[in-house]
Amino acid sequence: MNLWRGSPVPHHPLEHWCACAERRKRTGYWRQFATFLRLARGNKIALLRSASKQCGGLRLTEHISTCPACGSADCRNLPIPHAARSMVSDGKVVSNPLKRCSCNNCGHGFHTQNFSEEQIKEIYSADYSIGLRDAVAEAARSAEYSRQIEAFLTHHLGNEANFSKIIEFGCGSGTLLGHLTNRLGAQISTGVEPSSRIAANARSNVGGRISIHEGFAEQFEASRPGYNLCLSVNVIEHTRNPLGFLQACRRVIDKTGNIVVICPDGEIVGSELLFYDHISNFTSASLAMIVAGANLRMVANSPLTGSLQGFRIYLLQFGDADLDNQTRGFAFLSQERAEYVNTWSKIRDATNRVLKGRKYGIFGTGEYSDLLHAYSPSVIENAEFFVRDQPVEADFYGKPVVSVKDFLSFPRMPLIAAVHERSWSLIRDRFGSEDVPIFHSLEIARQDAIL
Ligand SMILES: [Zn+2]
Repeated sequence: MNLWRGSPVPHHPLEHWCACAERRKRTGYWRQFATFLRLARGNKIALLRSASKQCGGLRLTEHISTCPACGSADCRNLPIPHAARSMVSDGKVVSNPLKRCSCNNCGHGFHTQNFSEEQIKEIYSADYSIGLRDAVAEAARSAEYSRQIEAFLTHHLGNEANFSKIIEFGCGSGTLLGHLTNRLGAQISTGVEPSSRIAANARSNVGGRISIHEGFAEQFEASRPGYNLCLSVNVIEHTRNPLGFLQACRRVIDKTGNIVVICPDGEIVGSELLFYDHISNFTSASLAMIVAGANLRMVANSPLTGSLQGFRIYLLQFGDADLDNQTRGFAFLSQERAEYVNTWSKIRDATNRVLKGRKYGIFGTGEYSDLLHAYSPSVIENAEFFVRDQPVEADFYGKPVVSVKDFLSFPRMPLIAAVHERSWSLIRDRFGSEDVPIFHSLEIARQDAIL
């Protein structure tokens, strides 16, 4: 499983309207239009511009004016990091600006526009990668997820809980499910995975106690429901209908069963906001409201730690929620998110300011380089080369990749560090001790924002 792995999402009801011309002929244009209006009202969507024909289908331009989690209209539009580009979590660039909104009441983050069918196709085209760039790191992450999930369950349910039947929605390679099957002593385990290629791969990975089904959670029908544990890791933030997803989780467990959901922690402001295919950014408050809508109760939640910092784990069970409907005051989170995204829009100018026309390289060929490529493409285009510890690729974005050792044998040249903020101080000290001028793009852009 990849850190940012998610599953392609099933169709939203609104896509009835976006269906191809052939389907409209079959079902009747006006009936579709009436269906759309009903659904639009149900989804509290204000239709700002009428639909227009495009590429044989219809592109909708709707604006979501209220928070999908709590219904509040007190929401803040976040700045747009690039006017015409956004990044999908596998690094691919799509030609749409990232328009996100943050609810001041519950802290829920969401796209201000519903995705059209074309946009969804653009994201989840055949080359949508689950990011298996590094199989070794992937295996280590699965083991760590397994360890932290088991510790969380033991802490809240004790050692005697029954996990004889477990199911994972969006099981990817099946590695995590394999770990948990062994650690929790499950007799029957089921993995559900929408990608046929990945499901086939999972079948060859897992042992005899585990069966892999191809499909979406929402469409999965257990021949005999009654799982003790339903798990999903980094899936719900990709779904366009989190309520429908949670209802699917509820359907497969028995009345005393448990649902474990892991997703990025929306209260930690960071690069998660920049992933176009993260349709929702959940706070525990916003997820609790959607959970209540599915007739479930949030029993416990806690942040993951160590290498899984930035993610949160939730335990859900059958039951009525005890929600207070008081305003929760998440305006501070909206403000922090706005500042973060705004900083990304300033990286190009900040980089030009500190480099003053000098030639430079970029340290790192991971997710942060992808983010720079998407939101500050000139920073990548103008670089001479990439530097990393043990190059596995000869070139990256059309530039040569050199080892740190080779780089240090060149005459000194500045570097832009394309690394996560939490790794920055280590990298800065390491190159600083070699007299290499090194800058972190976000740090210099933040300084510009303050100036
Ligand atoms: Zn809200």
